Amino acid sequence: MTMSAQGQQLDQELVEAAAHVARTRCRGDNHTIAAAARARDGRIVTGVNAYHFTGGPCAELVVIGAAAAQGAYELETMVAVGDRERGVVPPCGRCRQVMLDYFPGMRVIVGDGGTKGSERLRAVGIAELLPSTYVWADHQLSEE
Ligand SMILES: [Zn+2]
Repeated sequence: MTMSAQGQQLDQELVEAAAHVARTRCRGDNHTIAAAARARDGRIVTGVNAYHFTGGPCAELVVIGAAAAQGAYELETMVAVGDRERGVVPPCGRCRQVMLDYFPGMRVIVGDGGTKGSERLRAVGIAELLPSTYVWADHQLSEE
């Protein structure tokens, strides 16, 4: 996917927002990953994961809730960055499913799997990250 220079700059800004939160706000084992999303109105919303063995939410899900609390219901781009300089972290399977269901047109910034440090970032559509998607609504039995 090619991005315009302006789009690339916006994506870079989003990565830096997540990286800043990861560097300054992730403390200890409870908060280890930060995420940032850009809303349709340009607003950037950030959040960190709330790790817990019962299934505490990933940073992406925290961002979705935090954004809604601010009235930002249309998120366009998401990125997650690990603490301790781990760089961009791709979303887990659960987050991919949630993001696809909430924001089918969302772009997610991921690495290309290259060597750490020289990895190139790219933005991909969420549907591309979840092929052969399970669509919940398609599998609900009718009441009749
Ligand atoms: Zn996740």
